[in-house]
Amino acid sequence: MARAGCDLIALALVLAVGCRSPEPATAPERPAPAAFAQRALQDNGAWQALADLVAVAPRRLTGSEGAERAVQWAAERFRAQGADEVRLEPVRVPRWVRGEASAAIVGEAGDEPLSVLALGGSVATPEEGILAEVVMVRSFDELRAQPERARGRIVFFNRPMPRALANTFQAYSEAVPQRGSGAIEASKAGGVAALVRSLTTQIDDFPHTGSLHYEEGVDRVPAAAISTLDAEMLAARLLRGERVVVRLRLSCATLADVVSHNVVAELRGRELPDEVVLIGAHLDAWDVGHGAQDDGAGCAHVLEAMRLIRALGLRPRRTIRAVLFINEENGLRGAHAYAERYAKELGRHFAAIESDRGGGPPVGFDCNAGGDKLAAIRAVVHELRALDCGAFVPVPGGAGGADIGVLRPAGVTLMSLITNTQRYFDYHHSERDLLATIHERELALGAAALAFVASSLAELDQR
Ligand SMILES: [Zn+2]
Repeated sequence: MARAGCDLIALALVLAVGCRSPEPATAPERPAPAAFAQRALQDNGAWQALADLVAVAPRRLTGSEGAERAVQWAAERFRAQGADEVRLEPVRVPRWVRGEASAAIVGEAGDEPLSVLALGGSVATPEEGILAEVVMVRSFDELRAQPERARGRIVFFNRPMPRALANTFQAYSEAVPQRGSGAIEASKAGGVAALVRSLTTQIDDFPHTGSLHYEEGVDRVPAAAISTLDAEMLAARLLRGERVVVRLRLSCATLADVVSHNVVAELRGRELPDEVVLIGAHLDAWDVGHGAQDDGAGCAHVLEAMRLIRALGLRPRRTIRAVLFINEENGLRGAHAYAERYAKELGRHFAAIESDRGGGPPVGFDCNAGGDKLAAIRAVVHELRALDCGAFVPVPGGAGGADIGVLRPAGVTLMSLITNTQRYFDYHHSERDLLATIHERELALGAAALAFVASSLAELDQR
């Protein structure tokens, strides 16, 4: 009896509470990082997305048929995952085609072939090639100090990525000017072509491509990347005083611009749909390898993060907008098109987060916010310590990646997913950038970290 009485009282309490007028909506409890990780590892959706992308469009340089297949594929994948809205946003993009590349040391004993790839955007050589003596430099200063050495010659830029730097992106940024501007500097010194040591952390026989620029008013000379193994061999012979003559043949070409698209998908915010947390990666890739690390992995992170947030039944306060940018590698036209299209809305971007550092183990996030906002974001990222990827790196001036970097002047809070990149540059922009270099668990955890941070930021009270 006493027991029945208690039950009745309990029932009355439940009914009373149930009938109370509704309280103001409070934020639903956020799942812990472990819940994201468990789901990501169990479903393995990030790897499946990447494997599918590589099957559909193994080569997807901007302006190519492969890039267009990738655009249609991504839109379809977002739709199939149940995004609230998927849009293709037109972007006028450049179209450069690689053609054939060959190089050889020409000597009395016959030709000795060199492993080369044209740099993206390079002009072609004459059909018969360029035959010239090679002069080696390690810096622009060295070249500018003795420009007469370069006259009529092929300038060989042999600056390695500095070995002593633990941060491979820093090492890359120190050596990359010779790829971007080597053709300009070679031409200014009277050189007839540029050969650039590949930007990689290994000594091997794979050349690594990447974009170059030309300068108005400076003759455009052709430029190619040479493998680190051949660069070492060439350097050794030149340092011994040998006269080395190389024939370089490139048949690349720049064609007329075409129209391509950024792929945009949204999970609309439940309270603040006009405020946006952007998560982005780039859909285009160099036309060597699969672009699995650069940046198929980032696309898989973004696609899977969107899927995970839904799979965990979340609808955060702010809109989460996934953007797969086109043309990061050779123009950034997709990034600029986004910044123009959304210029009036950038003040309502709570944050933009980019994944463009490969599919290695996630480490944490960098961020350029300040003050209270920085503290709030730091607290969210630190929750990822439970997954060993809660490093938080404040970078006041330079966080984020190339695509969202375009949003910096508008004052958008920028972040990027930091991964372990000790091997990333071994693959980057080369035939080695294959699906087989991606570990499915590492990729899944990167997607889980991105999903956790994006959905948590979309929930924060902080403005
Ligand atoms: Zn990239």
